[in-house]
Amino acid sequence: MSNILDGKEVAKKVKLELKEEVEKLKLEKTIIPKLAVIMVGNNPASQIYIRNKSKVCEEIGIEFEEYLLDETTTQEELLSLIDKLNKNKEINGILLQSPIPMNLDINEAFKRISPEKDVDGFNPENVGKLTLGQKGFVSCTPYGIIRILKEYNIEIEGKNAVIIGRSNIVGKPMLQCLLNKNATVTVCHSKTKDLEEITRRADIIVVAIGKRNFLKENMVKDGVVVIDVGINRDDEGKVKGDVDFENVSKKASYITPVPGGVGPMTIAMLMANVVKATKEQNK
Ligand code: NAD
Repeated sequence: MSNILDGKEVAKKVKLELKEEVEKLKLEKTIIPKLAVIMVGNNPASQIYIRNKSKVCEEIGIEFEEYLLDETTTQEELLSLIDKLNKNKEINGILLQSPIPMNLDINEAFKRISPEKDVDGFNPENVGKLTLGQKGFVSCTPYGIIRILKEYNIEIEGKNAVIIGRSNIVGKPMLQCLLNKNATVTVCHSKTKDLEEITRRADIIVVAIGKRNFLKENMVKDGVVVIDVGINRDDEGKVKGDVDFENVSKKASYITPVPGGVGPMTIAMLMANVVKATKEQNK
């Protein structure tokens, strides 16, 4: 049976550290970090994510401002709001909740968010910095995964890491994060052939595809470290990951549960990025 990588516990520790930093900022510089979140339309899952983010902001002492735009919002209106928030000195971080309606160009919107306030790390400047191994904002999910591995002293250097899924928000930045830590990384996706042959050689596997029970026991070797990013619902509406946890956990040395693994870490690292942005803007 494997060890559980307890994202909830590590996130608790990260949040506590951030709370202290925020208190210090208030006391020494009379600055309160502020996160602005933009949501376009009323996607129910996005509403839950935003509520969770606002709760964690409150826990840490970060101010939270919500901008709820109508489904019929035009690209110009969205960009103009981003411009306004970019200029507002009281706002330290800007987050555009995805998805946004199909008629809007999310990449153009991410590009418009000032790189200094881009706490999600989706602006091409921050993506480029991560690729070049330079300091910038790192996408919160991969950032959280690296932090949880560090917390459990799991060696990355020299390891064979396999990522399943190549999205811009998880798979691709995960590749850079693991590469920057000197792993040998393979990225698999829906067109990959002989996936099992690749995953069976992996020391570390990150699964981010959104398919319940996708990673099975016969696809992994003994002692593998498994990171499950997926968020899916089972027939009873319960949240499940992309990994067949019950069986894969019998072979893995370490594994993240869902819920309670990557999810809490993602929010904690978003908060870390907001605090970092605030400090850098007030140097
Ligand atoms: P996505 O939904 O944009 O893309 C899915 C990826 O999976 C694609 O790259 C595709 O090539 C790959 N894929 C699909 N079927 C495959 C198959 N059979 N074999 C190999 N690859 C396959 O990806 P995303 O936005 O990274 O989301 C993936 C999952 O992670 C979703 O369940 C999402 O909800 C979840 N997620 C969780 C967090 C978190 O904080 N826990 C954060 C982001 C995303």
